[in-house]
Amino acid sequence: MKRFIHAVYTLLLMLALLGTISTVRAAEPFEVHVLDVGQGQAVLIEADEHFMLIDGGGRSASSFVISYLKQHGVDELDYAVVSHYDEDHMSGIIGVLNVFPVNILLLPGYAGDGDLYQSLAVAALSNGCAILHPDTGMLLSLGTGQIDVVGPVRSDYPTDNNRSLGFRIGYGDTHVLVCGDAEQDSEIDMADSGQDLSADVYVADHHGSSTSSMDAFLESVNPAYAIISCGQDNGYGHPSMETLQRLQNRAISMFRTDDQGTIVACSDGTDIWFELPPSDNWAAGSGSVALEMEPVESETLITRQVNTEDADGQQNDAEFRYVCNTNTKKFHEPDCSSVEKIKEKNRLNTNLTRDELIAEGYEPCGNCKP
Ligand SMILES: [Zn+2]
Ligand SMILES: [Zn+2]
Repeated sequence: MKRFIHAVYTLLLMLALLGTISTVRAAEPFEVHVLDVGQGQAVLIEADEHFMLIDGGGRSASSFVISYLKQHGVDELDYAVVSHYDEDHMSGIIGVLNVFPVNILLLPGYAGDGDLYQSLAVAALSNGCAILHPDTGMLLSLGTGQIDVVGPVRSDYPTDNNRSLGFRIGYGDTHVLVCGDAEQDSEIDMADSGQDLSADVYVADHHGSSTSSMDAFLESVNPAYAIISCGQDNGYGHPSMETLQRLQNRAISMFRTDDQGTIVACSDGTDIWFELPPSDNWAAGSGSVALEMEPVESETLITRQVNTEDADGQQNDAEFRYVCNTNTKKFHEPDCSSVEKIKEKNRLNTNLTRDELIAEGYEPCGNCKP
């Protein structure tokens, strides 16, 4: 009997061991990790066990980023990237440079200033990495994956956010787009440049702010999935209701780090999948009003064109309540004559109520008096 019990225990132990082995996740050849760094951004890209870290989050996330990389088997980085010299992107890279061997440090094409920038320069020097300010249009490789530098298209933007480096990274037939804090000027120029921006996964520019993820840009990227890196109660109101609405209008599946933590997308070069379902939390960040989100069939979500014509050539403009001009901060009835004059990049269709729009800082048009 004792021997039998011993045999059973041995069997159970073996099964338990097998169970442990089989639950260890086999890493996919291509993975995109949008780390939960709170307010900030850090994106780890893995292709064939080669690693690229685009931004490292802010100071408070630095040790988390380092331990996350270690846990995921990173012992050196092919590329570390500072998309632009804002604290919420740069600080974590300084920490990473102090811990991991880095082959190439990619920096934007302008010089930074201040103590933090000096710390970056010191960390880069002691790391021994090469430093490259990549030109837009440059091609780099990551394992068998390919990195296209897609932004910034111009170097004379007045704001650092618009000078963010932008990357389209491809592995097989699957692509991800990461453009730091690019805002509408840079986005529109990227879209107008004729570069291929199409991507399955779009890491939302500038934490989902209202001045990014503009329609003309989303049109070029045409993503199936958007991942928003934003902190809980971040004080900027990220993600904004405008951006959430634009994603929703295009029936883009949305993930958000403030609610779901670190988001991982996996690819075998053909298909893309996530470890968790998309978010159904379409509430804007604190300081903004929550969207009235009801699950809607995707056909009715595509309402971005005000004057879209349906099959009968009928004007089809009654699927949303109001049209906002995000530039003038006025809102209109969909049939107001002013609506036609709103530039597409400033036009936002919404189902928010009158009161909610006013709470968002919008004013009713004096002409159509919505
Ligand atoms: Zn940022
Ligand atoms: Zn920024």
